[in-house]
Amino acid sequence: MHVYSIPMRARFRGITQRTGLLFEGPAGWGEFCPFEEYDDAESAAWLACALEAANDGWPAPVRSRIPVNCTVPVVSAEKAHEIVARSGCSTAKVKVAESTLAEDCARLEAVRDALGPGGFVRVDANMMWDVDTAVTAIKAMDKAAGGLQYVEQPCHTLEELAAVRRKVTVPIAADESIRKAEDPLKVAVSGAADIAVIKVAPLGGVRKALEVAEACGLPCVVSSALETSVGMAAGVALAAALPQLGYACGLATLQLLDGDVTSDSLTPVDGYLPVLTKAPQPDRIAEFESGDDAWIRRYERVLAKVDL
Ligand SMILES: [Mg+2]
Repeated sequence: MHVYSIPMRARFRGITQRTGLLFEGPAGWGEFCPFEEYDDAESAAWLACALEAANDGWPAPVRSRIPVNCTVPVVSAEKAHEIVARSGCSTAKVKVAESTLAEDCARLEAVRDALGPGGFVRVDANMMWDVDTAVTAIKAMDKAAGGLQYVEQPCHTLEELAAVRRKVTVPIAADESIRKAEDPLKVAVSGAADIAVIKVAPLGGVRKALEVAEACGLPCVVSSALETSVGMAAGVALAAALPQLGYACGLATLQLLDGDVTSDSLTPVDGYLPVLTKAPQPDRIAEFESGDDAWIRRYERVLAKVDL
């Protein structure tokens, strides 16, 4: 068991250090890294995902590389332009709803300018809006971006998503609605969203996430949970095993970390990540090893809650 602690390049999701646990099993390395505020019950799916990687490995891929989007945090328009232009990606995901509508729109104009007319711009509002605010914002942002590919989780509830969906032409993607659902297999997103965002760790591994994808019956976008390359490889394995993949995935998040546990980092080349058959060797773990035994105790507590 190796506990790691890696500084974030910038504060993201309220954290400045990413921490977690790596362990090896007969099939390879797994990463257990639920965010600190997650309780043991919610963390059980994350551990199931790590155990799948370590003990069972992943289902066979149906593609050999995964298109990925770059991520634009709440930064100035100039900085947004630079991030997108440097990324090599033809799809950009822009975090919105944390600054003024005018600032968000200025950032979206800069992103479109950097991508050119053939690129795709999507936004993520992380449940920040009510229905009326969402409708106004989406219409303005669609115009500023020269066309939005979709808007992710504009509001909190499925009812609100459905109401927004009836009032705008931009497709709606559900993220928190699926990941935070009591039973992700049963959540009825079909009337409320056009696209499902799925994350391998909160859904309990590649096989479980494939079941969720099939059950929701929507086109899927695979997204990360700020893992190192070890955990990221499981997300890539999910994207690789989905029968259909029509959108770039949110798996290019390693650059948010100031370092990685492996020299075989899953960083995109020309907007694509390679598909691996197992997670890369964490050969640089010594640089980030932390003596925080709380992670070992957390692992032991959560293990008792995993359905094996
Ligand atoms: Mg999201």
